[in-house]
Amino acid sequence: MSKTFDIGISALAGPGEFAQANVDSAPPLSNGKSFFIETFGCQMNVHDAEKVAGVFLARGYRAAQSIAEADVMLYNTCSIREKAAQKVFSRLGAWRGIADGKIIGVIGCLAQQEGEDIFERAPWVSLVCGSASYRKLPQMVAELEAGGRRLMGLDLDTDETFETEITRRDNPLRAYVTIIEGCDYSCSYCVVPHTRGPERSRPSDAVLSEARRLADAGYTEIQLLGQTVNSYRDPSARTLSFVELLREVASVAGIRRVRFTTSHPNDFHREIVDAIDATPVLCDHIHLPVQSGSTRVLGAMRRTYTREEYLEKIAWIRAARRLISVTTDIIVGFPGETENDFEQSVTLLDAVGYDGVYAFTYSPRPNTTASTMPDAIPEEEKYRRLAVLQDRQRQIQIERNNKLVGSAFELLVDTHHSARGQWAGRSTSNLIVNFTSPLQNLLGEYVQARVTRAAPFSLVGEQVI
Ligand code: SF4
Repeated sequence: MSKTFDIGISALAGPGEFAQANVDSAPPLSNGKSFFIETFGCQMNVHDAEKVAGVFLARGYRAAQSIAEADVMLYNTCSIREKAAQKVFSRLGAWRGIADGKIIGVIGCLAQQEGEDIFERAPWVSLVCGSASYRKLPQMVAELEAGGRRLMGLDLDTDETFETEITRRDNPLRAYVTIIEGCDYSCSYCVVPHTRGPERSRPSDAVLSEARRLADAGYTEIQLLGQTVNSYRDPSARTLSFVELLREVASVAGIRRVRFTTSHPNDFHREIVDAIDATPVLCDHIHLPVQSGSTRVLGAMRRTYTREEYLEKIAWIRAARRLISVTTDIIVGFPGETENDFEQSVTLLDAVGYDGVYAFTYSPRPNTTASTMPDAIPEEEKYRRLAVLQDRQRQIQIERNNKLVGSAFELLVDTHHSARGQWAGRSTSNLIVNFTSPLQNLLGEYVQARVTRAAPFSLVGEQVI
C-alpha cells in the first residue's frame, strides 16, 4: 500500500540520531541551506529517501521543517500505479508558486520513467534523477549549487548499489537496510526492471557492519530490503547465500528482530522456513506476493511459478514449528482474466489462509508487455472483483483474528494514541495490537499484551504486567 512520508529532521529521536552521530567522516559544515523530501511509495522508496537525505546532510544541508522553508524541494515517488504521473505533475504544479530561487527535483522510479518530459511539462524543475542513478546525486547537487540547470540522471547500467556514508533514518525503531537493488525478473506488468535496473547485491560485510552500527546505535529491529530480497547473492569472496546472511544478521548482538521483504516465490526455498524455525530473532512473518491464483494468468504475468508450486511453498511454511504469518499481493483484472481465473484467486485466499492481502486492480504501465495485451477488463468489473476479493479476505481475517483472543504477544511499541488512551505495537508476526497500559513512556519498549478483542484489521488488548 502506498503512503506519503515527509522527511523532516524534527522527526528524529533516539536511535534515529545514529544518522549523524555514527559516521566516520567529519561532521559536515553548515552551508545554511535546507532540503525537504516528499516521498510517496513503498518501503524501498522510503529508505531511498533516507539515503538521499544523507547525501544532502553530508553536503552541509539541514532538513527543513516544511516545504515552504526549504531551499531544495524533492519529490520522490514510485510509478507502480497508473495515477502516479498525474499526482507528480499536480504536486509540481502546486510547488510552482514557491519555486523562485529554489531547486526543485523529481527523484525515484517515476523520474526514471518520465525522464526529460518532466522538464518539458514543469520547466521550473532543475533536477530529474532516477532510482538507479542516485550514486550520481552528490555530483549533480554540486553542479546545481554551481548554477547548473536541468540536470538529469537516468543511467541504468550501474553495477553498484546506492549507499551513503550518512543515512538519515526516519524511523527511530525499525531500521531499513537494503541488501539488493534492481530486479532481473520480467513480470509483464511491472516497470521496476526499467526504473531500478538489473539486480545487484551488496557485499555481506557491508550489510553486517551496517547491522552492527545500527545495534550499537540502539536499534533492535532491522528490516532487510530488496525488490526480490531472497534472490540475494553475496558478490564478495564469502559468497553467503540469502539464508546464511539472514542467520548472520540475526546473530548481531543487540538485534532482537530481523524482517525481510519482498520475497519472490521462485527464490523461496525450504531453507528460509528452516532458518526462521531455528532462529527466534528472524520474525515469523513472510510476505510472499502471489499476484494471481490462476496458473494461466501467472503465465501471462511471467511470474515463473504455478499455483501448485506456490501452494507447495505455503505447505513448507505451514509445516514449520513456529506459527508463521503469511501476507501477499494480488492483482485483479489482469488483461484476459476470466471469471474462472478470478475465482481461483478467491479460492487461493482460503487455501492459504492469509493474515493480510494487499489487493490492487490492474493498471497498465508504460513500456510493459501487459500494457499492449488484448482483452482489457472494464474498470467497473475490476472494481467489482476487487470488492469480492477484499470481502472474502475480510471474513478470513475476522476468523483468524478471533482465534487470537486470549493469546499474549510480545510487542515492540511504536505508537501512542493519546486521544484513545492506547498504545500500539507489532508482534514478531507483524500483528498490530492496540492495548491499554497503566504504565507511561512505552514507545520503543518490548511489552507483553493479551488480546481481548479482535477486528478484521487489528487487535485490541491489555498489557500483561
Ligand atoms: S519480481 Fe516482477 S513484480 Fe517484482 S520487481 Fe521484479 S519484475 Fe517487478
